[in-house]
Amino acid sequence: MRNPIETRFIVDTNVGHLVRKLRMLGYDTLFINPVDDADLVQTADREERVVISGDRRLFDRKLIRSGRVKGVLIDTDQDHHTQLQLIVRTFGCGDGGSFIRCLECNTLFLSKSKEAARERVPPYVYETIAQYAYCPHCDQFFWEGEHVKRMRALIEKLKNESAPPA
Ligand SMILES: [Zn+2]
Repeated sequence: MRNPIETRFIVDTNVGHLVRKLRMLGYDTLFINPVDDADLVQTADREERVVISGDRRLFDRKLIRSGRVKGVLIDTDQDHHTQLQLIVRTFGCGDGGSFIRCLECNTLFLSKSKEAARERVPPYVYETIAQYAYCPHCDQFFWEGEHVKRMRALIEKLKNESAPPA
């Protein structure tokens, strides 16, 4: 398993659609819903997380204004892909795409052998897939199906788009 990226996020409820995408990219991404503004910023401070929010007023809070807590203001009028691009361009996406983190709960996957997955995945999957990712929190096995391939394609696209012009 590769090292997770160092930047950690906390995502506000107004841009909750970014959560799974950021986890997919490998970022440690916390999402609390519902959350009030004070809790959001305090959690960011305590856990050294960058705040991602579409709420301009949040950025007037002292902890953010003073620079103690970092934040990214998302323009919620932009499409979701453009919003994600902004984050990737700002923070990079490291080893993203290595499928290291559960999209549902943010826990790092453990890698599991075919035998460990035998009773837990459909037979046709067991027949064709040799390596599995396991989320100990959700108690679920995951594997490289079409969904993951689409995710990887999206990640490649984001990486290319965020590369500096030659
Ligand atoms: Zn999980």
